[in-house]
Amino acid sequence: MTYRATIGLEVHAEVKTKSKMFCGCQNAPHGSQPNANTCPVCLAHPGTLPVVNEAAVTKVLQFGTAVGGSIATFSEFDRKNYFYPDIPKAYQISQYAYPFVSGGELAGVALTRVHLEEDTARSQHDQGVGSVVDFNRAGVPLMELVTEPVIHDADTAVTFAKELQLMLRVLGVSEANMEQGEMRVEANISVSMNDELGTKVEVKNLNSFRAVKEAIDYEITRQTRLLESGTSVRQETRGWDETTKKTFTQRSKETAKDYRYFPDPDIPKMRIDTYAPFVKSRLDESTPELPNKIREKYQNLGIKSTDIETILADDKLRLSFEQLLQIIPTGQSSIAALAVNYLLSDVTILLSGQNMTFLDIPHVQYLKLITMLADKKIGSRVAKDLLPEVLSTGADPEVLARERNLLQESDPEALRTVVIAIIQEHAVVVADYRAGKEAALKFLLGQVMKQTRGTADPVLAESILQAELST
Ligand SMILES: [Zn+2]
Repeated sequence: MTYRATIGLEVHAEVKTKSKMFCGCQNAPHGSQPNANTCPVCLAHPGTLPVVNEAAVTKVLQFGTAVGGSIATFSEFDRKNYFYPDIPKAYQISQYAYPFVSGGELAGVALTRVHLEEDTARSQHDQGVGSVVDFNRAGVPLMELVTEPVIHDADTAVTFAKELQLMLRVLGVSEANMEQGEMRVEANISVSMNDELGTKVEVKNLNSFRAVKEAIDYEITRQTRLLESGTSVRQETRGWDETTKKTFTQRSKETAKDYRYFPDPDIPKMRIDTYAPFVKSRLDESTPELPNKIREKYQNLGIKSTDIETILADDKLRLSFEQLLQIIPTGQSSIAALAVNYLLSDVTILLSGQNMTFLDIPHVQYLKLITMLADKKIGSRVAKDLLPEVLSTGADPEVLARERNLLQESDPEALRTVVIAIIQEHAVVVADYRAGKEAALKFLLGQVMKQTRGTADPVLAESILQAELST
């Protein structure tokens, strides 16, 4: 008899807008001075009223359109009542009966709903002064996505979370950095021997893809062992301890009833389908290229699928490459592929050494260098030599190559002169080659490259060398 796990995910993502969800405060929960971005509304002073942030709603509707969900015609905000030090109103404004988006699908996983709510403040217990609360995050727009319980293993959950992060970034909905808490994953996990779902345990605080994987695997094993030993699984909320790699009991799970949801009387009801900025054609119009389209586009440029995933997994790298694509002339896909090869190798190493990101690359000059390489105006040795200077100073590689006499020598007569001189200088090696020692040719070619300081076209040089040696 085997147990099968069933997993549903709940993901919260901080929505990237200028201001908070219901007030004009700056939406900058990370890196600001504590409590710098607060006002009477997000501090819940009596008599203050919330005003809905249209940009936040637009982004959630755009997300809903991108995942093929159905957009609500009518929607409203509800109060979710609970008392906690980080929730100054003693309720959170969320959505209950009428989420903005229902259904949809992402990475093969069916979605239940997507709604919008406000984030809580942040309690800190490690400042040496008891517990303190930072309200910069209070009222930041937070998108909540709930999947159907259709996932059965940790790897599928991780794949889904990665694709969601990419989708959020591509759409500009959220930066979705998990380490910063911009995207937070919770997993509802149950184990059962038949088609009926077992008792559900919710695991919170999953702040990395690795934590998602490890916590789900741990929880499946824990629940399976309990059931195998004849003990029942308790319905509860558990946390994930990154140090011990174990989940632990936080509290018994609340149900919706505990929250006493009711429509927020301070916020007008919304007719989504009749409000011009929210109509489907407007949303479609402003939706950028989606991840699968981007994959297809890169594939058509001849980029390997592993390289495509590397680019997509790094937002700065993707945006940098997109900038290059803007300036690569159409029909020059080989240049795009060559640009990627250098981005993923030499450029990656150089940037980390110089404390730069992919977005700091001087794209025009970088592309010029790659084009010169593709056009054989310079060789790969020279390209690698010029690259650090081009990246850090934005210098024009053509000017550098000309000034330093590094342009590739592809004049056969000039190369023949060099080759003849090398052959005369290395009589012993030449004799070795003629006696059948193939490696001798590599040595002689190396000498030609050295003599020309890497500017010789290596293919041409080799053929001239072979021709001269056989006479
Ligand atoms: Zn405020």
